[in-house]
Amino acid sequence: MRGFDTLIGQEAVVKRLQQAINSGRVAHAYLITGAPGSGKKTLALAFAQALFCQNRENSACGHCRNCSRIEAGNHPDVTIVEPKTGRLRIDQIRRLKEKFALQAYEGTWKIGMIIDAETMTAAAANSLLKLLEEPSGRAVIMLLSVGPSMLLPTIVSRCQIIPMRRLSRLRIASFLEDEYQLSPETAMVVAGLADGRLGQAIEMASTDKLVWKDRVLAMVTSESGRGLEALRLAAMLDTEPDAIEFSLQVLTAWLRDLLLVASGCAEEVVVHQDHHNQLLAESGKYDESPIRQAILQVEDARRALQAHANRRLTLDALLYQMADLTSFSRVSEVYKYGKSSRG
Ligand SMILES: [Zn+2]
Repeated sequence: MRGFDTLIGQEAVVKRLQQAINSGRVAHAYLITGAPGSGKKTLALAFAQALFCQNRENSACGHCRNCSRIEAGNHPDVTIVEPKTGRLRIDQIRRLKEKFALQAYEGTWKIGMIIDAETMTAAAANSLLKLLEEPSGRAVIMLLSVGPSMLLPTIVSRCQIIPMRRLSRLRIASFLEDEYQLSPETAMVVAGLADGRLGQAIEMASTDKLVWKDRVLAMVTSESGRGLEALRLAAMLDTEPDAIEFSLQVLTAWLRDLLLVASGCAEEVVVHQDHHNQLLAESGKYDESPIRQAILQVEDARRALQAHANRRLTLDALLYQMADLTSFSRVSEVYKYGKSSRG
């Protein structure tokens, strides 16, 4: 699949951009919004290809010189600006402006793509604003961001907003079955974990991440010795940090599933449908409150890890607690007791 064809389920925004090309009304600035893995960059690249493609009018052939160079990230008139160490800085925006001030190398379009635009420093954002205020000829800026609320309103107001859709679970699952040969059961679980984001689903299906789903679920459903299993899992994750985020996603989905099952929701709405019996058995063991606290605890651990807390200690502590969710009710009792004893 090439160009816009790779944007499964995003027909509305693709049509909008194609109409803009057909009618010669391409805007100077677009803001593409959506969660990580929702296809923002794929859309931006496909749009750039459609503007430059030598074989097609409003789409991309995927194999001409221009399409290939854009895909490889080395087209002289397409500049991609990405955050370095978490921030987009003013010198990066300045370099983009310098490029925009020059003639296009190949005399057609000049395109600037700003990835994770919400990470712009205030200085970078103000510098970009000036560029947006003085649009020139055939130049297009594409800002990619999780949402408009994270950007200066003065920037947002100069952009056409292109929101990426969340896809239905069934749509993602059937795509995974067709393209990645997943079993229907696994496809539904992966689609549930991806939460509407096709890019995330593809990443899970095309890497060896799924083995971590099995490891996490083996721990939380183990019949005995869960504490030991938890520490073993923490040790394994410590040596494979790339799997941590996914494993925490699996864990959070498991905890949410427990709440859903406890409140009598249908099997179709839970993520881990392939473990429905264990979910039923486990949800009977706990009240709602420790499960809710456990979900918050996973979030806390995620934040701590992002802030470079000691990885092994954080994982040990988190997973050991997850091995026995009643530990959360004990914590809250101590807390309550502490409060009442003070008076
Ligand atoms: Zn082409």
